[in-house]
Amino acid sequence: MKFSILAESLNKMESTTKRLELTQYLVELFENTPQDIISRIVYLLQGKIRPDFEGIELGVAEKLAIKAISKSSGITTKKIEEEYRKSGDLGQAATIILEQKTQTTFLVENITVERVYETLFKIARLEGSRSQDMKMKYISSLLNDATPLEASYLLKILLGTLRLGVAENTVMDALAIAYSGTKENRKALEHAYNVSSDLGKVAETIASKGLKGIEQFEIVLFNPIRPMLADRVKSEEESIEKMGIEFAAEYKLDGERVQVHVDGKKVVLFSRSLENISKYYPDIIENIPQAVEADQVILEAEAVAINENSGEFLPFQELMHRRRKYKIEKAVTQYPITVNFFDVLYCNGKSYLDKDYIGRRRLLEKIVKEDNFVKHVPMTIVKSQNEVEDFLENSINSGCEGLMLKMTDKPYQAGSRGNYWLKLKREYRNELGDSLDLVVIGAYFGKGRRTGRYGTLLLASYDEDTDTFTSICKVGTGFTDEYLDQLYQILSDKVTIKKNPRINSEMEANVWFEPELVIEVVASEITLSPIHKAARDVMRKDTGLALRFPKFTGKIRVEKFAEDASTNEEVITLYKGQKKIAHDKSLM
Ligand code: AMP
Repeated sequence: MKFSILAESLNKMESTTKRLELTQYLVELFENTPQDIISRIVYLLQGKIRPDFEGIELGVAEKLAIKAISKSSGITTKKIEEEYRKSGDLGQAATIILEQKTQTTFLVENITVERVYETLFKIARLEGSRSQDMKMKYISSLLNDATPLEASYLLKILLGTLRLGVAENTVMDALAIAYSGTKENRKALEHAYNVSSDLGKVAETIASKGLKGIEQFEIVLFNPIRPMLADRVKSEEESIEKMGIEFAAEYKLDGERVQVHVDGKKVVLFSRSLENISKYYPDIIENIPQAVEADQVILEAEAVAINENSGEFLPFQELMHRRRKYKIEKAVTQYPITVNFFDVLYCNGKSYLDKDYIGRRRLLEKIVKEDNFVKHVPMTIVKSQNEVEDFLENSINSGCEGLMLKMTDKPYQAGSRGNYWLKLKREYRNELGDSLDLVVIGAYFGKGRRTGRYGTLLLASYDEDTDTFTSICKVGTGFTDEYLDQLYQILSDKVTIKKNPRINSEMEANVWFEPELVIEVVASEITLSPIHKAARDVMRKDTGLALRFPKFTGKIRVEKFAEDASTNEEVITLYKGQKKIAHDKSLM
């Protein structure tokens, strides 16, 4: 398949934000795609070469790409950089540069999707001292044969700056239309995606086996299942209203969610955001095979740091010590954990997703043996508000965040947030009554004690409508020296030369980041703001919402995607809620 077909399609998609049009372009693209490369097209559309959980990264830096453009065009890197500064997009800059070049060269050879994909794969696999040179050679050889438009999209894919705004749901709509004639069948595709987390595989299945293949799609060990999420309730009273007369209450442990895949002695761990996190938990990998009485299983657990002497649960933050590149063995002994199992999704060749909660819990208790390291999450069946309160107290006293409430007769809903599971947290008390999860988009260098680190961070909420991150506040309180060090380390991998186009902020910052890291803050109130962009124009024209006196709570939410951060809709609800309280008080 000619790469130009994909490039032209991407070009059309980039010029629209209308979902219907996007879907139509995707359908046309799929109809022009041979069956055997549909998965590759789907990965490339998402700017990837394999599903995220495989952790294959292209790792091409802007500098290297600039050198490659220079090599294949004969134009100096300085000139390319100038062009880049003007247009703000290296792909676009390459188009302009190569347009100048093609006037002087002969016919170019057609490049194919297959060749591009294979080359990208080779680039991703390169390691070692000569890898940069080799990467540059591969890129410039592709650029040599690419038209300016193709070069632009090649570079966007390589640099990870392809921003089409096509959500997975839109891709699934288009797949359903292209291969089964109607969008109505998307539900079946969603199920397949939720149990495999691999949109390429879903596309390949519907293209080769049709809807029947999708309906028979099964869980595959070592492909993570998209996790079920919980809605939030504010009080014991509300939980009774929503859950009915009898339900399960479990401790909500303050650790990291791990999906544990086991096949005999082989164990792989996935995070809530489907990243392979096996390397941080060699102790889980080692201890699980003995603890599980089944050959093949997929389990869900919360890994929690503990005080080895008292056995007490420690806050989530302690786990971050394990997020280091070297000497992980030392961190494992210094920061011990327990793994606390709460669900079983698959066992010995059979999916348990459709089984009710109680059935799954019974199976879990049967096949997972408890010891000092392996535990079942404490659970009880509750029937009244008093019992919920009681269990909540116990949970808080043993260092947990609150309770997870689960309907006993309901299945596991992979990949969805619903009201079969509710979370009841004892919130960090603050005037706003709620904490917010916000994305770190920029930073300002620290002074005095904070020299050499970031003293203040610029934070954003998530705007679902435009898929952007809107600035909402600067935060400089709540940071201990240890947090400052950790944040500096984590954020140093995310620094960008220019502000990412998905960031919507008028503030200046010393450094900009890829919008990826989520942290938790509390604040005294939400106010109208002429500078910040959160919920801009919603409450008042040319005015956004901002947090007043924000404070970092100490929670770095590495397990969350930026898109899981608090949304502008949530911010608006909180804003309206506080106004209502003020109004009610004034009436008293
Ligand atoms: P939140 O991150 O506040 O939306 O809460 C959901 C998270 O709570 C899950 O992703 C788990 O990591 C964690 N969690 C702790 N205890 C449990 C439990 N008993 N059942 C399910 N999730 C739990």
